Amino acid sequence: QDGKTVNPQNWPEAKSVGLIDDATEAKIDALMARMSLEEKIGQMIQADIGSITPEDLREYPLGSILAGGSSPPLGHPDRSPAQPWIETSRAFNAVAMEEREGHVRIPLMFGVDAVHGNSNVVGATIFPHNVGLGAMRDPELMRRIGQATAEETAAAGMDWAFGPTLAVPQDERWGRAYEGYSEDPDVVASYAAPMVEGLQGTPDSWGIQGGHVAASVKHFLGDGGTTDGIDQGDTQVDEETLIRVHNAGYPNAINAGTMTVMASFNTWNGVKMHGNRELLTDVLKGRMGFDGFIVGDWNGHGQIPGCINTDCPQTFLAGLDMAMAPDSWKGLYDSTLAAAKDGTIPMERIDDAVRRILRVKFKMGLFDTARPFESRTAVIGSAEHRAIAREAVRKSLVLLKNDGVLPIKASANILVAGEAADDIGRQSGGWTLSWQGDGNTNADFPGATSIYAGIAQAAQAGGGTATLSTDGSFSQKPDVAIVVFGELPYAEMRGDVRTLEFQPGDKQALALLKRLREQGIPTVSVFLSGRPMWVNPEMNASNAFVAAWFPGSEGAGIADLLIGGDHDFSGTLSFSWPKTAGQFVLNQGQDDYDPLFAFGYGLTYAKGGDVPQLSEVSGIDASLANTSLFFTRGRVPEPFTLSLADAVTRSAVDSETAQEGAMRLTWNGAGSVSIDGPELALVRETNADMNIQVTYRLVTPPSGAVEMKLGAASVNIADVLDGSDGWHMLRIPLKCLR
Ligand code: BGC
Repeated sequence: QDGKTVNPQNWPEAKSVGLIDDATEAKIDALMARMSLEEKIGQMIQADIGSITPEDLREYPLGSILAGGSSPPLGHPDRSPAQPWIETSRAFNAVAMEEREGHVRIPLMFGVDAVHGNSNVVGATIFPHNVGLGAMRDPELMRRIGQATAEETAAAGMDWAFGPTLAVPQDERWGRAYEGYSEDPDVVASYAAPMVEGLQGTPDSWGIQGGHVAASVKHFLGDGGTTDGIDQGDTQVDEETLIRVHNAGYPNAINAGTMTVMASFNTWNGVKMHGNRELLTDVLKGRMGFDGFIVGDWNGHGQIPGCINTDCPQTFLAGLDMAMAPDSWKGLYDSTLAAAKDGTIPMERIDDAVRRILRVKFKMGLFDTARPFESRTAVIGSAEHRAIAREAVRKSLVLLKNDGVLPIKASANILVAGEAADDIGRQSGGWTLSWQGDGNTNADFPGATSIYAGIAQAAQAGGGTATLSTDGSFSQKPDVAIVVFGELPYAEMRGDVRTLEFQPGDKQALALLKRLREQGIPTVSVFLSGRPMWVNPEMNASNAFVAAWFPGSEGAGIADLLIGGDHDFSGTLSFSWPKTAGQFVLNQGQDDYDPLFAFGYGLTYAKGGDVPQLSEVSGIDASLANTSLFFTRGRVPEPFTLSLADAVTRSAVDSETAQEGAMRLTWNGAGSVSIDGPELALVRETNADMNIQVTYRLVTPPSGAVEMKLGAASVNIADVLDGSDGWHMLRIPLKCLR
């Protein structure tokens, strides 16, 4: 094949239906004839809302703004539930659409991670994360969820959702597994069109005026297939697997008219997707007939060898049309303009990119000046939308064990325990009001219902009682205890784990369950997680066990199923549930497929069924199981504090000067840490993102979870390379807070 790695003929054919028509293309011709080269380059670059002001657009005529995963900050006028992002988007568009000498008026696109509802807006309806939606197997409900999400996004002043995610996660240790609907390509494929059409409408109804937004299917391609589930890692599969598994959803999304596709951070067999001309151009735009535009991911272009965030003609040559250059837009604009002037990027390529972007802007009706905004804000968190989310919660829950304790009588006296019982932030997970979904309180979710509140409503209606006590203490013995616990919210690499054991070392929830049972109280576990996990001990200590994923803002959907018996469970696993903590890759059809609960498993009241006593041996080497090193969020501070568990060792390292060297940590298991040698290596520094390299050795496995903090910085383990004599090396990408 002449040094080529793919043969486009092997890929399915598809066609962007509705995107090209003569009248629109003529309008684009007319507009492009008046545009300067500067204005064309500007269209190809997207800046983050936090790094640009409306005035900047006079000098840098950019085409798009993104608000990522974050809500307007506290105190910002747009944080009000009634006014989300509206003022901001209006202020930017005012400059873009202003009449001035030598300026072609082109509206901006405002993109946002509306990945489970318009989850960055206070008061919005938060739907279950995709892992839960996959368990519903209900494409028709997906369409309604997409439509409700679009209405809440459009009403908030935005016109573009960075979703749906069509990843087909193959290793549940991946921190983004919950953004995928299923490990099964067919489930993902069945949701692609309904979700795209829910968000965008169909060609006859496209456009912001009808409350629709543009979709962005992501991340093209192979994001869910990285080795060891490492976020942004390398997907080492052959072309056939890439097509059959990871590309499964894309043809349907293209046929349904998805207006944009987001390129992925990962490499495929070592080649960065942002620079892969064969896949972006020959396959996606060629064979698969995609006529919309390809947007990059957050400085993803800067990861191509030879590129930096502020300079990367390679990505445009490969076929990217708009680069997501959150904080690097100024430099990228200047360097791309220079590359256009000196012919590095041919004019035809630039014109093609700009044409695709303008096509989407026309199809979205963005040139029609009057936008609905305020008149529509009542849809944000409306009763209708919350009812859809509650239905989705009911359908997404999977009953894994029930010895008959469920359903609970509505007249029962229920103890509601567990640290996540009354915490809407915990039940919503990552990508909720902030990128990582942390730091949210119930006050940030007006109109939402916590799991406890939902149970209390049901109990009250049925003549029973519900008492909240997160630590499980009580004065009067309850009839039953519902214990809500699970993973803390996380997003992207911070969610990468090395084993599937739930909270290795930290058995708080287990202790609570055991204590309640010793007191003669039947226990129902409601487990919040972004993936199946090894929870055998917790399951053994529960009379019933429910996988609730990250259900979102409508906690009442859980009570609907647990109490009264009016609703039965219908959710079935869209990811296989592991038998040991080391069972990472569980693909149906694999010869040694032997999960605890297979893909498709799920009990119902009608069918019944109990789970026998499970093995409590995790199957994982304890010295590795207890390692979970991560930094908390923010920028690289100087000097930094390093703490492992409760041991704190201070070391003054200036991030300016500590460019090389390695930090060596020795954990002695007794609550202290020693550091040898130069402390910190900043392996790569490109603007604000960088990698840190740490070598460490566990002499004795620590008893609790090990947490490493680098001041306020947010990091997670990306790579673990086993070194000699027990030393391990971590390569940790530091991603700057947006
Ligand atoms: C993620 C994308 C997201 C983008 C914008 C990236 O880090 O990979 O999924 O759409 O940020 O927030």
